[in-house]
Parts: sequence; structure tokens; C-alpha cells
Amino acid sequence: MTIMARYVGTCGRCGGQIQIGDRIEWERGERSSHVTCPKRPAQLGAAPRTQANIINALFSCAASLGHVVDGNLYKPDAHPADRGPCTRCGRSGVWISGAGQHLCARHQDDY
Ligand SMILES: [Zn+2]
Ligand SMILES: [Zn+2]
Repeated sequence: MTIMARYVGTCGRCGGQIQIGDRIEWERGERSSHVTCPKRPAQLGAAPRTQANIINALFSCAASLGHVVDGNLYKPDAHPADRGPCTRCGRSGVWISGAGQHLCARHQDDY
């Protein structure tokens, strides 16, 4: 049957809060639920959080892929701020900490 809630409770259908005065479906011995479940504001709050998670995931993914310097992808152990000529070919490279020398994108694994 449909009654006015006299106590604050939790909706058995949507899990949302039942406020005093809400119209609820109530049967003895069963969990009460909203007659009409409200759209939960929590879902609105979840969207930006999800977006932030995606952005964070993209950033951490890019970091694990490496660094982009002058359009070239370098390994994660490259130091883009520390530029220098490649010890193999003399082209502009970056410090590769794993190699202990400056290497260009083509020779970054050549050590
Ligand atoms: Zn509900
Ligand atoms: Zn090189």
C-alpha cells in the first residue's frame, strides 16, 4: 500500500534516502520503496569524477608510454628537459637515464 513515510529510511529499489513525508510503497515485513524513485543527484556528481578518472588514466598512460619531444616519442626513462646531441648520430636527442647518454628518438634503444 502507499503511505506517507513517517521515518527516514532507505529505498529498497533505488537505495536512495526516503524522507519523512515521501510517498512510499509499504508492506508489512518488506522493505519500503519510493512510489516514484527520484533521479539521484549522486549520478550527476559521479560524471565529473568519472571524467577526471579518464583524464588521470590518459595522463598516467602517456607517462608510461614515454615523452614526446619534437614530435618523437621517447621512452619513460628519457629526460626531455636535458637536451643534447645524440652520441650515435649527432642529431638532437635527450638524456636517456638508462643509457647514461644523450640519444635521439631513433637511437634511444641503441645502447
Ligand atoms: Zn527509490
Ligand atoms: Zn641518433
